[in-house]
Amino acid sequence: MRLGVEAALVEGRLLPGDVAIDDGRIQAVGLDGVGRGIAVPGFVDLQVNGFAGVDFLGADADGFAAAGEALLETGVTAYLPTLITSDETDLLPAIASVPMRAPGPRILGVHLEGPFLSPARLGTHRLAARRDPDPALLERLLAAGRVRLVTLAPELPGALELVDLLHGRGVVVSLGHSNATAAEAHAAFDRGVRAVTHVFNAMRPLAHRDPGIVGAALVRPDVFLQAIVDGVHLDPDIVRLLWRVGAGRLSLVTDAIAGAGLGDGTYALGEIEIVVADDVVRSEDGMLAGSALTMIEAVRNLVAVDVPLERALEAATSVPARLLGDTTVGRLAPGGPADVVVLDDTLEVVRTLVGGESLVAG
Ligand code: ZN
Repeated sequence: MRLGVEAALVEGRLLPGDVAIDDGRIQAVGLDGVGRGIAVPGFVDLQVNGFAGVDFLGADADGFAAAGEALLETGVTAYLPTLITSDETDLLPAIASVPMRAPGPRILGVHLEGPFLSPARLGTHRLAARRDPDPALLERLLAAGRVRLVTLAPELPGALELVDLLHGRGVVVSLGHSNATAAEAHAAFDRGVRAVTHVFNAMRPLAHRDPGIVGAALVRPDVFLQAIVDGVHLDPDIVRLLWRVGAGRLSLVTDAIAGAGLGDGTYALGEIEIVVADDVVRSEDGMLAGSALTMIEAVRNLVAVDVPLERALEAATSVPARLLGDTTVGRLAPGGPADVVVLDDTLEVVRTLVGGESLVAG
């Protein structure tokens, strides 16, 4: 099968020509033919709390199918359902309920955002459900399902032991919802941590004598910066700064909540009620509470601050795949899985394929 495109993003470059797919895999790129639009790797979103009316904390198989179908329309072909800080009695069944196979995008595992977070930087996470590092609790959470990424605050007592435990199990650790100083962040990076969660948001602010996690992460070229580029969580100049310092290691995430993809209204985020108004998501106390962002919008927002299209697309594809250490997603190359998004000239999603199957056509 031919995609009928004029170019494809291959190894970071737009290669003119059509793409052929066979048996769920990319067969060839750069083929002669007159086509329209560009084929790019399917987007990889490492932080999705919910989508299209479905909150993943408490979703069943039908919920994951419905959210997955809507995510495909935004170009996402692989993602981590993300569970925020919650009581163990809610978290364990929620982790266990995340299907490893569902219609729609590939589910790569669970992102646990909490409960080992700083009480000073919780944002909308519930204080009553927050916990200090507890290896036994972590073991129970890991045993409940396939946890792939854990966000934790490294300055908490015993946090670095949890880092070792997680790395020993092949789970990626990211620093976030943290009041850590730069020294505390460096200690975690020295321990092998390679990412920060929604950089700048819910962490000690960057100051010239107190650089915090942000400063420590910016100066370490081996640390991935996950960022919510929705025009609200980060000022455009901060996005430009992140790009100047962190091009190639900036990973777009949406941090989308159940209201994403639906428009204004009142929705659930775990046990909290949140309001979406003019695409901005807030809890009752006015705190930012995730986003209504989609991945294709995040790509367009990066392009809007003069990031070249090829690089902006990498921030939604190969960079998050590298962060996760997953070589099966985030790239479009002969022999690899045909997880592809076709975009038109205005960067609208025309078509999304997972494993060569066209699941969404515009
Ligand atoms: Zn968060």
